[in-house]
Amino acid sequence: MTNILITEFMNEESVKTLKKNFNVKYDKNLFQNEKKIKEEISNFEAIIVRNKTQLQKTVLDEALKLKFVGRLGVGLDNIDKEYCDKKNIHIQIASGINADSVAEYVIGSSLHLIKNITLFNYETKKGMWPRSSFNSRELKEKIFGLIGFGAIGKKVCKIVQSFGAKVITYDPYIDKKLENEFNLKFMPFDDVISNSDIISIHVPLNNETKNLINTNAFKKMSKKPILINTSRGSIVNEDDLINAYKNKVISGFALDVFENEPIEEKFYSKIDDTFNCIITPHISGVTEESNKKISEFITNKLINFFN
Ligand code: NAD
Repeated sequence: MTNILITEFMNEESVKTLKKNFNVKYDKNLFQNEKKIKEEISNFEAIIVRNKTQLQKTVLDEALKLKFVGRLGVGLDNIDKEYCDKKNIHIQIASGINADSVAEYVIGSSLHLIKNITLFNYETKKGMWPRSSFNSRELKEKIFGLIGFGAIGKKVCKIVQSFGAKVITYDPYIDKKLENEFNLKFMPFDDVISNSDIISIHVPLNNETKNLINTNAFKKMSKKPILINTSRGSIVNEDDLINAYKNKVISGFALDVFENEPIEEKFYSKIDDTFNCIITPHISGVTEESNKKISEFITNKLINFFN
């Protein structure tokens, strides 16, 4: 019988379905123990991971029988794709399936930050009545800049347009015909970041996008925008972000992803309650609904692959 290893959390119903078809070892904390994964991986034909399990060359070299990697989500920065291709290991991602979840997070945090709700909330909870301490603005007629126009960028575009925002986008790899279909403008990167009131990042992490938002980029943000990053931490330089906020180059930020996860003190100690910001532990793509859909999707793909 085919052996399946699951190293991060997965919907329980899908685990049950897999157990009916395969020998399954499910340990949702195993991603923390790379040594153990290395020792055991030679027994398994398939592995199911999220974004924490490192499937790099040293681990894959031990994976003598591995034929299938199921990725519960998108983003392959924890998996050596080139080496998997070389070893003929199929990688199955769940593209677009958590896009609704991430898009809703982007809208929620945009509204919170543009209205300064985080700050009003903080002071009101302390017994203050800060009606005129902060300004509150509307999403309507703001310029919403998207960096990356894939599954998530498209969902965000549709929703913010329904609020009356105008969308501008940088994505050099996309069919320019989408400009008409989505009623937006494609522009060079510098133009998007300099013209936007809100900038939301939806690109994969790779050599081209690492450190994309750094001091140089912040200098071009002339409208004091809000910055939202749900993609990968290293796309935004965290030191430069804090400096940009302190120097009032940006008026707020939401981060769901960080250079180091879990978040480290050297970063969070720089943020205090007076910051118009939201930081969350890489959860924008994780809802009850998306977990179920992604788990079912990868389960079905895996069953089809081995049948
Ligand atoms: P996608 O593959 O559908 O879209 C990515 C888009 O980025 C593509 O249109 C591509 O052309 C574009 N792109 C690639 N390189 C670019 C560059 N250098 N400049 C501009 N555009 C570029 O992916 P998606 O589903 O929209 O997800 C986007 C990213 O969000 C993922 O790569 C993943 O890292 C991240 N993500 C995070 C969570 C979370 O829970 N925080 C959940 C899902 C996805």
